[in-house]
Amino acid sequence: MHLGEPLATHFRLIDAQKAALNKLGIKTVRDLLYHFPARYEVGGEGAAISGLVAGQEATLVGTLEKMETKKGWKSRIPMSEGYLRDQTGRIKLRWFNQPYIAKMYAEGSLVRAVGKVTGSADKIYLANPQLQKVSATEAGLFDSQKGPQKKVLGSPVSAKTPKAGRPDHFSGDLFAIYPESRGVSSLWFRHAIKKIFETGFEVEDPIPALLLKKYNLPTLRTALVWAHTPQNLKDAEAARKRFAFEEVFMIQLELGRERASAAKEKSFVVDVPRQNINEFMSDFPFEATVAQKKAIETILGDMRLGRPMSRLLEGDVGSGKTAVAAVAAYAAVHTRPPAQNSGTLQVAYMAPTEILAKQHFESFIKFFEHFPINIGLITGSGCYKFPSKLNKDKITTISRTQLLKWVTNGEIPVLIGTHALIEKAVQFKHLALVVIDEQHRFGTNQRRKLAKKDKQLPHLLSMTATPIPRTLALTIYGDLDLTLLDEMPPGRKPIITEIVRPADRKGAYEKMRAELQAGRQAYVICPRIDEPDPDKAFALQAKSVKAEAKRLKKDVFQEYELEILHSKMTPKEKDNVMLRFSKHEIDILVATSVVEVGVNVPNATLIIIEGAERFGLSQLHQLRGRVVRSNHQAYCFVCPESRGESTTARLKALVTAKNGFELAEQDLLQRGPGELSGRKQWGISDIGMEAIRNLKLVEAARTEAQALLKKDPDLRAYPLLSQLLMQRTLQTHFE
Ligand code: ADP
Ligand code: MG
Repeated sequence: MHLGEPLATHFRLIDAQKAALNKLGIKTVRDLLYHFPARYEVGGEGAAISGLVAGQEATLVGTLEKMETKKGWKSRIPMSEGYLRDQTGRIKLRWFNQPYIAKMYAEGSLVRAVGKVTGSADKIYLANPQLQKVSATEAGLFDSQKGPQKKVLGSPVSAKTPKAGRPDHFSGDLFAIYPESRGVSSLWFRHAIKKIFETGFEVEDPIPALLLKKYNLPTLRTALVWAHTPQNLKDAEAARKRFAFEEVFMIQLELGRERASAAKEKSFVVDVPRQNINEFMSDFPFEATVAQKKAIETILGDMRLGRPMSRLLEGDVGSGKTAVAAVAAYAAVHTRPPAQNSGTLQVAYMAPTEILAKQHFESFIKFFEHFPINIGLITGSGCYKFPSKLNKDKITTISRTQLLKWVTNGEIPVLIGTHALIEKAVQFKHLALVVIDEQHRFGTNQRRKLAKKDKQLPHLLSMTATPIPRTLALTIYGDLDLTLLDEMPPGRKPIITEIVRPADRKGAYEKMRAELQAGRQAYVICPRIDEPDPDKAFALQAKSVKAEAKRLKKDVFQEYELEILHSKMTPKEKDNVMLRFSKHEIDILVATSVVEVGVNVPNATLIIIEGAERFGLSQLHQLRGRVVRSNHQAYCFVCPESRGESTTARLKALVTAKNGFELAEQDLLQRGPGELSGRKQWGISDIGMEAIRNLKLVEAARTEAQALLKKDPDLRAYPLLSQLLMQRTLQTHFE
């Protein structure tokens, strides 16, 4: 059979299977063959669960079943129960006093469970096991560093208990265990793959043979067999490495072509006399940092060329990216469209949330105070314009239709907004610059969509404070030039971060009171919005915004104004709270992590983060960034709920790490690539994410992709690559 053929040509599928396959994105024979096992289990004798005896410490890998909360029969102690199943059988799991565990893991989850086999004879169970989600990612295949999970490549074998009748190395058959979906089991996958292998299939390897040889990677046919039906784990590992390389290689080719095609396009020449730029900047309430000045130079240099700029500005929270964007915008709106003696070029500025869009809108109004221009704000919930016709210092609401009309005829040179900005109806007259705040991918296609009426492609300035590991940056931002804002505005004092044990929370509150008394404001972050449903008495017991706000107001900070902010509020409610917080009508803001990205209230100097172990290190770093906005000393109190040593050790990194990048690297090492915040937006598969742990592999794929494109920009000699790339591009941009 052919890889491109639809599955239905070769398989008789019932509706449930069709639905399940659809959900997994499997439509063709190729899709099926590229649906890789999450791990492998050893079949045959001495299998894991069936061989357990009471008293032993066991590490098991299997799927969860029947998770539920209960009360002890006599003791009435709240607890969770469930089962763990592997190829050989199942064992009961029990957690005393931890009813929330049952809610934290979905049935059917693949987990590693570590605990003591308790009970007697045929009534054994695993007591208070620690659970850890398992994915292919964790197999540690590409772990060039010393990762903690190196040994566990799909193995249900406990390293500690070779006595329990289990081989320490793998003999016997390996069974592939697939990421499943209701309707198609691992068994179904194994049968289906077997059928394809038996029938025979034609493959053409998209990766040039020379590369396979150079990096010692198996051919496509071999790799498929090794990935799905390996004789040993070494083969499986080699196969997965090949597919990870393939994916990163494809991404790099895609980015390389994106870059090349953007470079061929034309853009407006934006060239404003230096003196005007200096004048604009001299009205800032501060002196730009050296890093800001350098970034501005580079950006102005890019925009002068008439070729589209594609630049990523990366800087920690508070490093002053908005001011840089404002200067770029200034240059654009002080340039006339070619061959015209009126009107100006235009700027679109996109933010991920309404709160942020509004904040940028307000910052821009200030930055442009002495160079008045029309600035528009478009969000899902309303449109605004500055200045108002009647009052030159005021913002006014206007209808969407009116706003869009003015954007289209060029009367509004700067339009700020959320995603609403890239809707079809929004058409600019002379769009010269697109600024994207905290967005991950924004390709030529999207740029073109914004600027449909023009032949010119707008310049792109993408900005991010999300520190990501270098491998990932190379993988997802490979089409952009990079500028770092590696300097904080002067006078900023390093934030004082402390890990606070529950018993010491009072001390944190005292410090908070002192700050409030000094006229400062504070954030309290909680992992949940609401209290758990009282009927489900044992649901996840993390602190909730609503209950914590009530408690703080009643018991601790009676004399202060306190408000809540979370994602279930309407954009209007959120805006209102943020506005009042920024005007200091609110002293304490109790919020979920919605305040994570970019919110700016310089007078807030203290943040308490409850349930801190539920956040990744780089997310905690982002949250902490909310309070490094001014020259006041800032404080961050990190309060984990659990007192475990490993939690504390992990959180300590917040105190010691020098910057966000270090923390992102640690997240990658400790929590695995699946936990990197934002991963959903990147469109990288699990196996591709495995590669993120391996700098060498990513660099090799990148170098080779660039070399290939240099030799053969249109990939004429590689029609299959070219075709697969086209499919990829269609998928990433139009799904
Ligand atoms: P981010 O890089 O996180 O987007 P912002 O652009 O929001 O940071 O800037 C954070 C704060 O620092 C703002 O209040 C801004 O006015 C201020 N700021 C920016 N640049 C400087 C500077 N060079 N000196 C002093 N303050 C600055
Ligand atoms: Mg910002």
